[in-house]
This record gives sequence, structure tokens and C-alpha cells, in this order.
Amino acid sequence: IQKIDKKAVQEALRTAYERCKNETGGKNADYIPYLADVPSNLFGIAACLPDGDVVAVGDVDYKFGIESVSKVPTAILAMNQYSGQEVLDKIGADATGLPFNSIMAILLENDHPSTPLVNAGAISACSMVKPVGDSDGKWKAIVSFIADLAGSEVEVIDELYKSETATNFNNKSIAWLLKNYNRIYDDPDMALDIYTRQCSIGVTAKQLATMSATIANSGVNPVTKKEVFKPELTPKIASMMATVGFYEHTGDWLFTTGLPAKTGVGGGIMGVVPGVMGVAAFAPPLDEAGNSVKAQKALAFIAGHLNLNLFGTT
Ligand code: GLU
Repeated sequence: IQKIDKKAVQEALRTAYERCKNETGGKNADYIPYLADVPSNLFGIAACLPDGDVVAVGDVDYKFGIESVSKVPTAILAMNQYSGQEVLDKIGADATGLPFNSIMAILLENDHPSTPLVNAGAISACSMVKPVGDSDGKWKAIVSFIADLAGSEVEVIDELYKSETATNFNNKSIAWLLKNYNRIYDDPDMALDIYTRQCSIGVTAKQLATMSATIANSGVNPVTKKEVFKPELTPKIASMMATVGFYEHTGDWLFTTGLPAKTGVGGGIMGVVPGVMGVAAFAPPLDEAGNSVKAQKALAFIAGHLNLNLFGTT
């Protein structure tokens, strides 16, 4: 992959924004009441380059729910505290081909939750995070890890956290089914609460882009220069994102773009181009798999335009 030129990135982001801003497809997630009320017309795209320059267009300072994109930092944190191999053994790294909240993810592979990037595996990853048995300590570890990746502080959107906690019955069943199969490594209710809280963290598109640039840059935040995680974890997390980042649409996404990316039902998508840059987009209306319609169109355009396909030139 070529070294990326800042002007070319700026131009790609602007063109993507213009092309996608009038797209009307999809609708806000409504199974979490807070998300249904976020203004649907918000739209922002940001990229962060290896020298720490952030290029952005649109609503890039609006704080939205990170939701499932939070599964990426917690998976890295667990691999950083244990090892990639231990997360592979305890959780897995397989594509599920299933919706994000599927309870089947646990039953598919002899009780293995398949990957930390679907709800079952993410709750399991939260249970692994050290210090085990210490809810406050775990939460501090997760929130400061996300802030280190983003290069700036993040906090929970309280109203979103309440809204999710009041409606997370499916995730409760997942946590207890994991317990049944000995795939939860701490108190199940506590692991679920940590998971729910991390999903409720507010981030901006700029912060997501910087998080992905830190991942692309082998664990060194290009803005703050802090070493956030071990460099050998970049290919591991990028492979997980490529395998399951768009849930049951992951194969279609990878076929179209060749870009490892992770979506969240808050409307954010984070794309990682290892060694090159981080790119992110945000727009609330989702397709039927729970992936932002505008954000995926914008990122697909940018990936094609800047020739970011990891598998070769298209
Ligand atoms: N908090 C959401 C849930 O667990 C996240 C889902 C997502 O973003 O895909 O249902």
C-alpha cells in the first residue's frame, strides 16, 4: 500500500460526504430508546494519518454512542493483558455470520462464543479484563484504554446507559448462558454491566478515527505518541474486524472494500488500514443488519478512491 497523501485523503472525504449526504436509506436503531431519538441527519467522516493529522468533514464533533465499536478496544485490552492466544482459546476469532445479538454465537462452536466482536464474545471479554472481581478497577482499565486509543477523554452518556440497562434482556440471557458453559470469567451480571456501560460511551467521529489510527499504527497513538498496546496485536485485531465487523454482512463488505472495519448500532463505523491510517464515519440510520447506511457508503467510496483494499488493487 502506498504512503497516503493528506490532500488526497481530504479530497476523498469531501467527495464521499457530498455523494452520501442526501442518502435517505435506513433507520435509527429503536430497540434502545435513546438511539431512536438521535437526529437522523447527522453525518460526519474523519481520518487520522500516521503523523497525527486529523482530516474531517461534517458532524465530526457530535458525541454518539460507541456501541459495538467498543468491542474492539476491549478485545485488544484482553489480548494485551493476557495474549492473543489466550483470547483465541477462551473466546475465539471466528466469523459467526450471525446478527450481533445472537445467542447462537455461543452454541455454534461447542459453547465457544466465537469472537469478542459479537455480543456473546464481548461480554466474555469484559469478564476477562483485569482486575477480575473488581468492577471499578475493570471499568477504569477499559475507559482509560479507550481514552488512550482516542488520545482524549471519553465518558458514558448517562441517558444511553440507563436506556440500555432497562432493555438489555437478550444480553442478560447471553451472559447467563455463557456462565452455564463456563465461558464467563467473572461475575456474569457484573461483566454484563461493564459491557453495557462500555457500549454507552460517547465518542466523536474524530475520536473514532484516532482510535483506528492507533490500531493502524501498531499500538502507538499518532497524536499523543503514547504506546497503548503491543504492536503484534494490530494484525490480530484487524483480522477479527475483517472477519466479523459487519455481522452477517461482513463477507459482502470485505468483498466490496477489502477494509477491516467495525460498526456499532449508534451509527459509527471504524475502519483500520494497517500501517496507513484510521478512518471513521458516523450517521445514525442503519440497514437491517445494524450497520450505518451512509457511513458504510462513505467508507466504501473512500476505500475504493484511495485504493485501500488490503487484498490488492481493484
Ligand atoms: N449495546 C448494543 C447491544 O448490545 C450494541 C450492539 C451493536 O452496536 O451492534 O445490543
